[in-house]
Amino acid sequence: MKIIDLITKDTLSLSFEVFPPKTESGFESVKTATEEIARLKPAFMSVTYGAGGGTSRYTLDIAKNIKELYGVPTLAHLTCVSSTKETVRQKIKDIKASGIENVMALRGDIPPELENADRSGWDYKYAVDLIAELKAADADFCIGGACYPEIHPESINQKEDIQRLKEKVDAGCDFLTTQMFFDNNLLYNFLYKIREAGITVPVIPGIMPITNANQVERAIKLSGSFMPQRFKSLVDKFGSDPAAMKQAGIAYATDQIIDLYANNITNVHVYSMNKPDVAEKIQSNLSDILGK
Ligand code: FAD
Repeated sequence: MKIIDLITKDTLSLSFEVFPPKTESGFESVKTATEEIARLKPAFMSVTYGAGGGTSRYTLDIAKNIKELYGVPTLAHLTCVSSTKETVRQKIKDIKASGIENVMALRGDIPPELENADRSGWDYKYAVDLIAELKAADADFCIGGACYPEIHPESINQKEDIQRLKEKVDAGCDFLTTQMFFDNNLLYNFLYKIREAGITVPVIPGIMPITNANQVERAIKLSGSFMPQRFKSLVDKFGSDPAAMKQAGIAYATDQIIDLYANNITNVHVYSMNKPDVAEKIQSNLSDILGK
């Protein structure tokens, strides 16, 4: 099932994200965690590619497993920046052969050792190059792209970032998923600006439940997200008490989702990070709203 056909207009729907294991030995525990999340019957599940500590090797295995065992539509992530055309074309063939219709097309982070390299000879410089490749392989793929309410860290300014985003969408993105954010007003402002720039595809906000204090630093480093005072106070108060921090972090994420829905945003992606208990708690916090 294509994600674009699952986008709801009136009722709230949640999707969850998982990441593949780092090594073969971690495969079974990730598989179990993803299956527990799949049992919650989210609108879809996404499986990252090499991000969040997982490696690219298992993305497709995990995605196929979710789809085949639980009938949950899956979104397989794919990055391109340090890959050759040959590798990417093979990956696309593998995705197609496994019956996965949805691909999140990403550039990926530039490896630190290549930051100052001459990029002129690279097969893929930006996500837009991968989108073109996917479209050429199968015009029927449903393609997602990443977007950044607080701008991508490499962008000079938001205007330029949104222009690049428009090019990416025009190349064939069917929908966009946002980087995490902790202040919904940043998202509303971003949506206003991208709509003004002529980007009309659905945007699925990405919400990261912060469930322990160590995650905060990592999340800021990864995303450059702004932490509102309300969130900082919560970490100050509960950071040293793991159970309380988890409860408060889940409550904060739940509250963000309720506010998004109250502002007519119906599809929300939760960065559930292989934590079935977190996914389950968010879903149960919203049970009456979701009708589940
Ligand atoms: P792009 O869209 O290519 O943009 C990267 C930068 O280049 C931006 O600053 C953009 O403005 C600029 N740009 C774009 N096109 C041009 C152009 N033609 N000329 C000049 N500048 C240009 N990483 C992983 O490794 N695995 C994952 O599974 C993963 N999943 C993600 C999911 C989401 C929803 C998000 C938000 C991020 C994810 N990431 C993942 C991280 C992502 O790979 C990084 O943020 C990466 O740095 C940028 O990827 P992109 O696809 O957004 O790049």
